[in-house]
Amino acid sequence: MLALTRASLSRFEPNSQTAFHYFLIDGIIAMKLNHFEEIEQAEVEMPGASGCKVRWLLGAKDGATNFSMRQFEVAAGGFTPKHSHPYEHEVFVLEGQGTVLEGDVEHEIKSGDVLYVSPNEIHQFKNAADVPLKFLCLIPNSALDKPIIQAPECGVEKN
Ligand SMILES: [Zn+2]
Repeated sequence: MLALTRASLSRFEPNSQTAFHYFLIDGIIAMKLNHFEEIEQAEVEMPGASGCKVRWLLGAKDGATNFSMRQFEVAAGGFTPKHSHPYEHEVFVLEGQGTVLEGDVEHEIKSGDVLYVSPNEIHQFKNAADVPLKFLCLIPNSALDKPIIQAPECGVEKN
């Protein structure tokens, strides 16, 4: 186990060669610190998504062996795909307000809300405000090779 004590902090060596700041102890990455805005934001290309962007804040590429932390940003009027998969989500709503679909029931969500989505539950996030809906969504890295199932009636929604 690596115990981070005040004494060991002096041995951190920030790595300035990338946008990330690595803190090394005896040459091993102990921490990685970065500002989320420095991480690339990509459009969610999955069918059924509209106005939805994602940043992979932390994950396997960073040496995290168990979990990935993503930050989603859904534009006004936008939504994530209506979908399910055999792994859970842990969600924290950072900003904005909207709804989350749980099966056939819609629940209102707002900044500060914490949400657990269990495996195989059909879910979809929608922005109900004029400002972006931003939330963190964590997944286990074991999810990356598991299938995502589109809800059958899902497509780009018609207004
Ligand atoms: Zn999902």
